[in-house]
Amino acid sequence: MNTIFVRMSNGQKVNWPVSVVIGIFHLGAIAALFTFNWYVCGAAVVLYWLATGLGISMGYHRLLTHRSYKVPLLLEYSFAVLGTLTLEGGPISWVATHRIHHQQSDRPGDPHSPRHGAFWAHIGWLLFGEANHSNTKKMSKYAPDLAKHRFYIWLNNYHWVPMIVLTVSLYVIGGFPLFLWGICLRVVFGLHTTWLVNSATHMWGQRRFATHDDSRNNWWVALLTFGEGWHNNHHAHPSSARHGLAWYEFDPSWIQIRVLKFFRIAKSIGEARITIEPCRRKEVLQTR
Ligand SMILES: [Zn+2]
Ligand SMILES: [Zn+2]
Repeated sequence: MNTIFVRMSNGQKVNWPVSVVIGIFHLGAIAALFTFNWYVCGAAVVLYWLATGLGISMGYHRLLTHRSYKVPLLLEYSFAVLGTLTLEGGPISWVATHRIHHQQSDRPGDPHSPRHGAFWAHIGWLLFGEANHSNTKKMSKYAPDLAKHRFYIWLNNYHWVPMIVLTVSLYVIGGFPLFLWGICLRVVFGLHTTWLVNSATHMWGQRRFATHDDSRNNWWVALLTFGEGWHNNHHAHPSSARHGLAWYEFDPSWIQIRVLKFFRIAKSIGEARITIEPCRRKEVLQTR
C-alpha cells in the first residue's frame, strides 16, 4: 500500500496553502458572474477545451497516466503544459495520484474514495490532511517513466509558471473580465468537473463491468469532461484510449484521438470496443 495518502485520509488538518488558493479562485469565479459578456464567455470555453480537454483528459490522463496511445514528444509536452493550466498540479503529481487511485480504488490508500464520504472524494481530500503530493521526488516513485524526463521534473516543480504567464497575457489582452472568466471561473468549473469523476462516477450511474471498485458510467459527467465519465468502462479497461465503448457513449477525447490517428499523429492506440448484437441483445467486448 502507498504511504502518501494514508495519513491524509485519516487526518483532518486543514491544508492551508491549497485551501487558500482554491478559496481565492472560487471568489474570483463568483466575481466573474458580474462581468459577463459573450466575448469572455467564449474565451473561457476555448480555454476549458484546451486545459481540461486536451491537457487533462487527453494529456495527463489517457496519455501520461495510462499510455493508452502515443504521440510525438513535442505534442506530449504541449498537452502536459496545457494540463498545468487547470490548477490540478504538475504532471508527475497528477499521474502518480491517479495511478494510486487505480491500484487502490475504493480501498484503503485510495486518495479520493467516496467510501470516506462524497465531500471527501470531491474536494475534502485536497483541503484536509497532510497532502504532500506536490513532492516531486516522492511522487516520481509512482511515475518513473515521467521522472526520466528533465522537462517533466521541471514542469512538476514549476507547474504554476504557465498559469502565471496565461494570467498576465489575458489581463493585458482583455483586462479584468477576461482574467476572471479565462482564469478564475474557467479553472473552478474545470476543478469541479474533474472532481466529479472522483466523486460522482464512483457513486452514481450504471456498472457495465463488475470491477473491484465502485466505478460507474455516468453520462452527464462524461458530457462535462470530454468523455471521462465512462468511468466503469475505464476502470475495467484502463489501457483503452477509448472510454465510451458503445456507439451511444459520447466520448469527445476518443474522437480527437481518432482525428490524430487519421493524420498519423497518434499511434499504438489501445481500444476496447462493445458491439451490440441485435438478434442476441448482447454486448460483446473486443480489445486490441
Ligand atoms: Zn476511479
Ligand atoms: Zn485512469
